[in-house]
Amino acid sequence: MPTNRKRPAAASEASRTGKRGKVRCRQRQGKGSKKRTVREQLLVEFAAVAKLEPGRGTSRGRAGRRARLLRSLLAIARDLRRKDAAAACSLLIYSEALEPEGLESPEAVAVEAVAARRRLLNRGGRKLWDQGRISGQELLEVLPNASARCLCLLQRLVSLASGRKHGEPSPELAAMALATAAAVLRSDPEGSCAICLEAWSPTARLLVPSCGHTLHVDCFWAMIAGPCSQAMRGLCRTCRRPSIWSPLARSNLRCTLTSAASAAAARCQEAGEAMGPGDFAALCVQFGSEIGDRPSDLWNELKQDLARRSIRGFGCVSSLLSLIDEAEAQAADGIAPEDL
Ligand SMILES: [Zn+2]
Ligand SMILES: [Zn+2]
Repeated sequence: MPTNRKRPAAASEASRTGKRGKVRCRQRQGKGSKKRTVREQLLVEFAAVAKLEPGRGTSRGRAGRRARLLRSLLAIARDLRRKDAAAACSLLIYSEALEPEGLESPEAVAVEAVAARRRLLNRGGRKLWDQGRISGQELLEVLPNASARCLCLLQRLVSLASGRKHGEPSPELAAMALATAAAVLRSDPEGSCAICLEAWSPTARLLVPSCGHTLHVDCFWAMIAGPCSQAMRGLCRTCRRPSIWSPLARSNLRCTLTSAASAAAARCQEAGEAMGPGDFAALCVQFGSEIGDRPSDLWNELKQDLARRSIRGFGCVSSLLSLIDEAEAQAADGIAPEDL
């Protein structure tokens, strides 16, 4: 491989080998005398850690650098007076994508990140949050060659950070989806979806599980909502490895799943085929085993979504909501869908 000392890629090359000091020095030289803001520094460091692939180079160095980054992000995100708090908080949310396997994303970081986001939203409102947080476009600029799995996770996490649960994807999320599809096409140009067998297209909406066996998002939803032996739930249908989702990515999947389920319930009600609480409980158990989620978390999210639809004019769902409430009231200490 020819030397790349004079190319801009030299910085990331150095970062892969863990030479942090050199990276900083070269980056400063590249930007001339202009000093980076804290926001820019955090984003650059986030990208540098993302580029240190797990299993390559010094994994201990990578883990240490990631831990230092998380500590900095936590300290800044907790301090509401800091103008970079939203940027730090959003990067904290995105930090799950630094562990594409999803095995080392602690629940505690997810809890802190969500709490910090709520505090910032309460204090400054949605507009200030959106102005301050790191956007999907900014992530794509600093991570032009990220893996498909990393981009898929980032797409989920940006969706969560932006708070968009319903409607058409925003331009930001649409750009993330295109970047994920581009990364899949880069790494697997001849590949296709294991469910529908369709070859990848640049505009496909794709989901990349931890094992890497990519599916169309719609094929994934159809697969996990469909019949299947209980033993295969939560496993990739191609390689039988477990699908692992980090806590915040999982909560985004939960939102999407429950939104789809309540939309289906509304359609069923309108068609005169009522779904009872038992049907919903079974769905929660099924989805829970597919994405590694607690059925009760899915249940609570689903109830909120049903209530939202009722408020928006899906009056027919109200009767179903009262059925669920009845079932819940009968349980000794709240409903446990797995018991139904
Ligand atoms: Zn498909
Ligand atoms: Zn697989």
